[in-house]
Amino acid sequence: MIADLRVSVTDRCNFRCQYCMPAEGLAWMDRQSILTFEEIERLVSLMTKLGVRDVRLTGGEPLVRRDFPQLVARLSALGTIADLSLTTNGYLLKRDAAALVEAGLNRINVSIDSLERDRFFQLTRRDSMDQVLEGLETIMAQPGIGSVKVNAVAIRDFTEEEVPRFCELARNRGCQVRFIEFMPLDGDRSWDPSQVLTGGELRELVEKIYPLVEVEREPSATARVYRFADGKGEIGFINPVSEPFCSDCNRLRLTADGKLRTCLFSINETDLREPLRTGASDAEIEAVIREAVAGKELRHRISESDFLQPERTMSAIGG
Ligand code: SAM
Ligand code: SF4
Repeated sequence: MIADLRVSVTDRCNFRCQYCMPAEGLAWMDRQSILTFEEIERLVSLMTKLGVRDVRLTGGEPLVRRDFPQLVARLSALGTIADLSLTTNGYLLKRDAAALVEAGLNRINVSIDSLERDRFFQLTRRDSMDQVLEGLETIMAQPGIGSVKVNAVAIRDFTEEEVPRFCELARNRGCQVRFIEFMPLDGDRSWDPSQVLTGGELRELVEKIYPLVEVEREPSATARVYRFADGKGEIGFINPVSEPFCSDCNRLRLTADGKLRTCLFSINETDLREPLRTGASDAEIEAVIREAVAGKELRHRISESDFLQPERTMSAIGG
């Protein structure tokens, strides 16, 4: 059953991470094509009736969408979402942290790929590490927030050097750090398997400094989580390339322009915006969603010779 929905609220972003967007950005979707808050709310409400329990808001960068905390408040007020979470680059988090928690956000993931200013700049093409870390501190200080995690995309010949710094963050700041393997969804389309630093390799690097003990995981959890053997914090590894978790995937994605995707790597998608805007009833939209879900891919084919990178890049899908 599909229990997890990722909703992209915009394809726009204030960063240009090397593994996601080209330096010059992308041609943004035109504003008319972006779902309104009302439209998102209706689709999310319908999908929770079909079994979705957890909703993660993402993008692009969600916090660049005007009045974004209002969307969080609307979704939270539905009362049908068990876990409402957000993925953000953290740049505007200092500004929005209190409003987001007030609006009903349960959990947050902040993406940070380097804890060294020049290297952060190199990867994101923005000299913004200090502002992001301030955002992280601000959200961690909010009494109402359930959990705060830090996500780092792992890239060979870059991330190895970050491992000791991320271990210290996880051990001393009380936020779980998770490394995500680099996937072929970059805007430059220059991904190559040799750039993937696997979770297994990273775990070995961590274990050279600190022994780890595996934490039991839920079948549908994407991360393998370990706690430091001395009890100080947790670290996780999301390994979609080296250890695909497709058979346990219970996830759907809704793009900012209203397309339903049943896999990150889907070649086909289902348009929900058209029925929404042409007066379809809830039952009719439900039928379209059910049909799309019935066709959900069994697995991705990243490591196969006939793999086709989807036309949309990560920022236009919603990671
Ligand atoms: N802008 C927000 C952010 O960066 O957190 C939300 C959207 S971003 C597309 C969501 C997540 O996807 C981020 O953690 C980002 O690091 C990750 N991501 C982007 N491109 C990726 C890629 N090619 N491989 C693996 N993860 C990627
Ligand atoms: Fe923007 Fe997030 Fe993509 Fe970086 S990973 S360019 S912050 S959407």
